[in-house]
Amino acid sequence: MAKLWSCAAVLVAALFLALAAPAAAQGGPSAAPTSTVDVHALPPTAAAPAFDAEKATNAYLSRISGDARAKSDAYFEGGYWLILWDALYAIAVSAILLFPRVSARMRGIAQGITRSRFWQVPLYIMMYVVVTTVLTLPMTIYEEFLREHQYGLSNQNFLQWFGDFAIFFAVNFVVFVLIGTIVYAAIRASKRYWWVWGTGITIAFLIVGVMIAPVFISPLLNHYKPLREGQLKQSILSLARSEAIPVDNVYEFDASKQTKRMSANVSGMFGTTRISMNDNLLNRGSDREIMAVLGHEMGHYVLGHVVTGIVLNGLVILAGFAFVAWSFGFLTGIFGGVWDVRTVDDPAGLPVLMALATFFFLIATPVSNTITRTMEAQADIFGVNAARQPDGFADAALHLSEYRKLDPSPMEEFMFFDHPSGRNRIHMVMHWKAEHLNDPDIKAGPVSPQ
Ligand SMILES: [Zn+2]
Repeated sequence: MAKLWSCAAVLVAALFLALAAPAAAQGGPSAAPTSTVDVHALPPTAAAPAFDAEKATNAYLSRISGDARAKSDAYFEGGYWLILWDALYAIAVSAILLFPRVSARMRGIAQGITRSRFWQVPLYIMMYVVVTTVLTLPMTIYEEFLREHQYGLSNQNFLQWFGDFAIFFAVNFVVFVLIGTIVYAAIRASKRYWWVWGTGITIAFLIVGVMIAPVFISPLLNHYKPLREGQLKQSILSLARSEAIPVDNVYEFDASKQTKRMSANVSGMFGTTRISMNDNLLNRGSDREIMAVLGHEMGHYVLGHVVTGIVLNGLVILAGFAFVAWSFGFLTGIFGGVWDVRTVDDPAGLPVLMALATFFFLIATPVSNTITRTMEAQADIFGVNAARQPDGFADAALHLSEYRKLDPSPMEEFMFFDHPSGRNRIHMVMHWKAEHLNDPDIKAGPVSPQ
């Protein structure tokens, strides 16, 4: 499903730039200064702060050095290549199903079971999901189990990992069969505009997924319990009330049985809203760090990022469906005879659709990353204004550096980062701190890590 999140956004970004550039150019002359105050002539502010945001940022970054830095850089940079290998592997699996006509034979089996064109589709898709899951299993085991252990990020043995994998498989199986069956019904109903319907169906499933996953799926994997009473819980609830988030409890869940990663979220809507944090954050993070992280998570909720995410990613999905619909005709025009797949309403063409979608979302990676990273940066600034814990936030950014490169080049960050880099996050909060040095709560805290 993660792959579904992902080139219309390229168009959107291009449109944005096209619109923004002339506006800025026009804004220049008309926004000529009308004020006569020369800021440079003003006396310096009373307490010239002995705090340098650049130095403070570098001091934080230097805390992670040597082996630790090399290890997290290697883990994260390996992830760039995995995006490519995953896509090539998935396309190869489609080729294995198409060229020796395995897919055509699976369609034959479905036709042998029922004459109903409607029911042939779920029968085919059930076979497709099982076969592709088995064929991609070696890659999945390497990526999600072996590699996580290699970098010391996993707390699971193979059986525990496989148990979680089985739950994901069961959920994906049901969801994929449902979406596929409905999309193929739309294809038979409208061979010309099925890709518009396909987009709508996919987005509808995304919305349902976002609403029910925290309530029905997450508890299948982890145990949730109310956070123990105490000052920390009171501070979290007080912050939530001050941001008008309708919750009266905070939950903790046992992610440490799977991973060493720290995380938290504010999820749900229409009465299912809840604040959850994992036990890694609780056990490894200081109170100021926890408040900083929860401030960020509350930012996602208050800024409506679930809706923004669905709209922006929905545009990417629309472009993806348009690309797939167009290029399906192109490819089957060349290889249709070899594959025994000629029309888009033939379920045996599903591997073609999936290979094309994989290619599209690979190319769209920087776009989907930029959509997410932009919302993350918004939640960061919201969080530090709400929780007022710049140093706690910098601590958290360093903890996250265990699996995210701290100091990438701007190009790397644009292409591969779905969150701002550690450097940019710390830099942002140190600048925030520089502007708030005289506030009583900030004054009372540590001045600088230098
Ligand atoms: Zn976030």
